[in-house]
Formats: sequence, structure tokens, C-alpha cells
Amino acid sequence: MPKKRRNNGRSLKNAGHGTPVHCTHCGRIVPKDKAVKRYTVRNMVDASSLRDIKDNRAIENFVIPKFYLKLAYCIACAIHHRIVRVRSHEFRKIRKVPRVFVKREEDKRPAQAPKPQAAAATTEAAPAATNA
Ligand SMILES: [Zn+2]
Repeated sequence: MPKKRRNNGRSLKNAGHGTPVHCTHCGRIVPKDKAVKRYTVRNMVDASSLRDIKDNRAIENFVIPKFYLKLAYCIACAIHHRIVRVRSHEFRKIRKVPRVFVKREEDKRPAQAPKPQAAAATTEAAPAATNA
């Protein structure tokens, strides 16, 4: 039988058994190595309320706390909510990190002159990002 993915959609590297986690959306139990994991940082209040609070605060430099969430989705929910997308046979072979995540990491780094290799890598990753 041909295999759809060489890792069978899992990152279980000879570990035997994956720790079960609950899907954030539906509650289904899914192995941790198979789950689609996303780390999100959200504001506790929406943008308009945030502006009102900043205008009426009593303490200067008060930072409103944020939610730091580690989300784990089952595959069905990840596909349904477009967190990951179905990729064609050729695009499944591309193992490069999607451009969305690469760009965020570059923003965090201190300002540097862009390398010519990095620019070439982003253009190569572009077809994968459009399909992913
Ligand atoms: Zn789910």
C-alpha cells in the first residue's frame, strides 16, 4: 500500500505511545504528537474597550494582562477551521516552514540587513504558503 505521508501524519519518533490531549474545540482525545498545536496570545478585552480603559486608567503604564493559550486541535477541527489545509501530492512533500511563521520569527529579531539566501527561501516557500 502506498503511504500518504512518510510519518503517517504524526511526529512520533520511535516513542511508542503519544500522550493524549483534548481537542480545544470539540474535546476529542487526540495524541499530542498528532494534534495541530498553536500558541496564541490574545488581549483580554477587545480593541474598542482597550482604548476606553487606556483613556480612563488611574495608574500610568498599566499593562492589561493577556491570555497566553496553548491550543491543540484534532485533525478534523484543524481542517474545518482552516488552521491547516489539505495539500496536493506534490505540495505534501514540501517540509519547509510556511512563510507565515517565518515572517513572525524575523519580526522578533533585531534589525539586520536582509540576506540574499533568506529572500530566495521566501520566494520558494510562496507556492506552499498559497496552498497551505
Ligand atoms: Zn476537534
